[in-house]
Amino acid sequence: MADYDYDLFVIGAGSGGVRAARIAAGHGARVAIAEEHQVGGTCVIRGCVPKKLLVYGAHFAEDLEDARRFGWEVGEPTFNWPTLRDNVLSEVARLNSIYTQNLGNAKVEVILGRAVLLDAHTLDVGGRKVTADKILIATGARPAVPDVPGAEHGITSNEVFHLDHLPKNIVIAGGGYIANEFAGIFNEFGTKVTLLLRGDTLLRGYDQSLRERLHLISQVKGINFRFNAGFERIEKTETGVRIHVTDKGDPLDADMLLYAIGRPPNSEGLGLDTVGVKVDQLGAVVVDENSRTSVDNIYAVGDVTNRVQLTPVAIREGHAFADSVFGGKPWTVDYDCIPSAVFSHPPIASVGMTESEARNKLGQVKVYTSDFRAMKNVLADRNERALYKLVCDAATDRVVGAHIIGPDAAEIMQALAICVKAGLTKQQLDATVAIHPTMAEELVLMK
Ligand code: NDP
Repeated sequence: MADYDYDLFVIGAGSGGVRAARIAAGHGARVAIAEEHQVGGTCVIRGCVPKKLLVYGAHFAEDLEDARRFGWEVGEPTFNWPTLRDNVLSEVARLNSIYTQNLGNAKVEVILGRAVLLDAHTLDVGGRKVTADKILIATGARPAVPDVPGAEHGITSNEVFHLDHLPKNIVIAGGGYIANEFAGIFNEFGTKVTLLLRGDTLLRGYDQSLRERLHLISQVKGINFRFNAGFERIEKTETGVRIHVTDKGDPLDADMLLYAIGRPPNSEGLGLDTVGVKVDQLGAVVVDENSRTSVDNIYAVGDVTNRVQLTPVAIREGHAFADSVFGGKPWTVDYDCIPSAVFSHPPIASVGMTESEARNKLGQVKVYTSDFRAMKNVLADRNERALYKLVCDAATDRVVGAHIIGPDAAEIMQALAICVKAGLTKQQLDATVAIHPTMAEELVLMK
């Protein structure tokens, strides 16, 4: 083997890159990792983690309201955004330093700076040349900004955690994960929210009944929706922005515009074309099932490959890469039955096939649903119904899809996903005694 500075050089210290670096170092490799922003990546610094803390913070609005029905006199609660924002940001800083420490403990050298490929084994990292036997691209993705005049007047999820103050009203563009999660967050904080969607549907890919239920509940909570409205141009006004849309309706005025319209891969300016690493039309690095790119010694994991843009998937891809390439234990990621959740208000969680996918693929399916009001919501006099759906293959009785909207959906789904992944049948679920009284007991009681 040629005499390289490192056995592995990782570009990007997010979920996938950090896992790969630590595992490879554990296998005895000499590893360095470059990060141009903050160690931890999107999930820890400006994604899943701070978002979930805001979701918790937001939910207090309903809990405090409901508390009265449970006998608590709580006075007129007030919400202080800077307190929550600063507490969340300090938690992010704590996690950032833990991630950095963990890399150090694993003997991974952390280099703060941007890395660019010069050839298949050489990189420029902030002006310094380094060489490595293997290179891993784990640069993630970034929020998309529309290509229309005035687009710079909107913000993205990168900025939303740092706001000086909350807007009185906000337009959130998009109908996916981030749009629905932040619609819930802002709405609970008392901001007037309008979701602006280019199509006629939200949360494409999720089961139709869950999407309809979220739409309904969101409307009842006061969230506005404007469908079939793309951007035309955005104007700055004295108080915020004016958004001209393509549906011929009136423009929308808002204090703030947040883009949540997808996350394109971060593959530009890395020197990929110089070394011959292929990317697809969306800019995603093309990899095989071992995460190997079109250049033999260069690999890529996580959002930059645009396979499944979820942190736990990136972590697995990084782990599989490190075990396979440096640990002599080759394995590949199984992408079948990946559970996911949207931390909307209320949350949605899902695994396996939607009802329509199952009908298309399997023909005969049996669908079981439970449409109910959680006990807590009944006493709180909150008219918000949960919906549980199991989709089963009629021929085998196997549960091939499970879909939940309601309190704690994601917590419940993690356990249910094991059953679906393991290929359990509806009968096997029914053979399990219920835990009463819970919401999750519905899963073993559906007829
Ligand atoms: P999503 O892919 O979830 O949704 C994108 C939304 O933007 C869709 O409604 C899409 O509409 C719309 N859209 C796309 N392009 C345009 C455009 N040019 N103009 C107007 N609207 C457009 O993206 P997000 O940004 O919400 O999230 C990115 C990814 O991050 C997610 O796919 C998910 O993988 C991950 N994520 C996961 C979370 C979780 O696990 N809880 C939380 C947050 C993010 P249409 O349906 O018509 O295509």
